[in-house]
Amino acid sequence: MLVVMKAQATPEEIQAVCEHIEQLGYRAHPMPGAQRTAVGITGNQGEVGGDLEDLPGVAEVIRVSKAYKLASRDVKREDTVIGFDVSEATIGGPNLAVIAGPCSIESREQAFAIAEQAARAGARFFRGGAFKPRTSPYAFQGLGLEALRIMAEIRAALGMAIVTEAIDPESLAQVSEWADVVQIGARNMQNFSLLKLAGRQPKPVLIKRGLSATLDEFLMAAEYVMSEGNYRVILCERGIRTFTDHTRNTLDLSVVPAIKRLSHLPILVDPSHGTGKRDSVLPMSRAAIACGADGILVEVHNQPEKALSDGPQSLYPEQFARMMHELEQIAPIVGRALPRGAQREAAAR
Ligand code: PEP
Ligand code: MN
Repeated sequence: MLVVMKAQATPEEIQAVCEHIEQLGYRAHPMPGAQRTAVGITGNQGEVGGDLEDLPGVAEVIRVSKAYKLASRDVKREDTVIGFDVSEATIGGPNLAVIAGPCSIESREQAFAIAEQAARAGARFFRGGAFKPRTSPYAFQGLGLEALRIMAEIRAALGMAIVTEAIDPESLAQVSEWADVVQIGARNMQNFSLLKLAGRQPKPVLIKRGLSATLDEFLMAAEYVMSEGNYRVILCERGIRTFTDHTRNTLDLSVVPAIKRLSHLPILVDPSHGTGKRDSVLPMSRAAIACGADGILVEVHNQPEKALSDGPQSLYPEQFARMMHELEQIAPIVGRALPRGAQREAAAR
């Protein structure tokens, strides 16, 4: 259910509606919009009684028929735009977000070398793996807390917002403390207890699409986080499993317009895991921006041939710079902009 408030409803009236919903034993989710606030109700099975329509400031009470509610455009018409303390960068909205960095943080030297080059090319987000979900238990598992400390130094030095993955409750607590965005990886997209925990911590959550997840399942993962009160969720298409074997995964760009239609949440595209092939990353990045994605998440490495993970899909820094230049030109054609900000200046100093 959704309570649509009148445009002129006061904060007190919105508060009273929320309290009324909570008194009925449900959860209230106020979602402010440009025109009016809507209050989502979760925890109910079917109709919510209690004469909500009669409360001051209420315009109407409507049923949301979709399984996902808080993630749906029915609840919030305007695109969600996520801001950060560390910089002017945003995810969602007219400006494209570019999240770049190595699959794994391997050393302080490696991380800084890549971050400086990414920042110089104009990336405002740095992403590196500290806790790696690897297919083999014998593969490099990440530097853990040490990597988080290195990335915090990068944020301080270059003004980049830090994105990194949490794989379990312990790493989630650490990532939430040290990073600006918590990534939930493809393999954990339906780890419902982890999603709920991510919903109870304050940082935005970037959810990668599961290897065989449908659109509904993908949006339900976002709903899990939002149902706990964290509405700053970012979706990321990273390729799905199909029969084709010319790429590591099949990058399903058609999910982008589908998500844009159904949800107000930002959707990014990861052409690195989506193709697994360095040569495919630039073409698919162009396509991602052209089809309406809110940005890209891309792996960059200064020595990909020596990378401890995902070297074959990592761009060389020069290739990344070229990509930024191209995306900057494609962006205005689709009504977007790719601001390359202070991070560029910080890296040049
Ligand atoms: C990653 O981002 O490095 C990663 C492991 O991605 P995914 O969860 O999409 O496989
Ligand atoms: Mn990777």
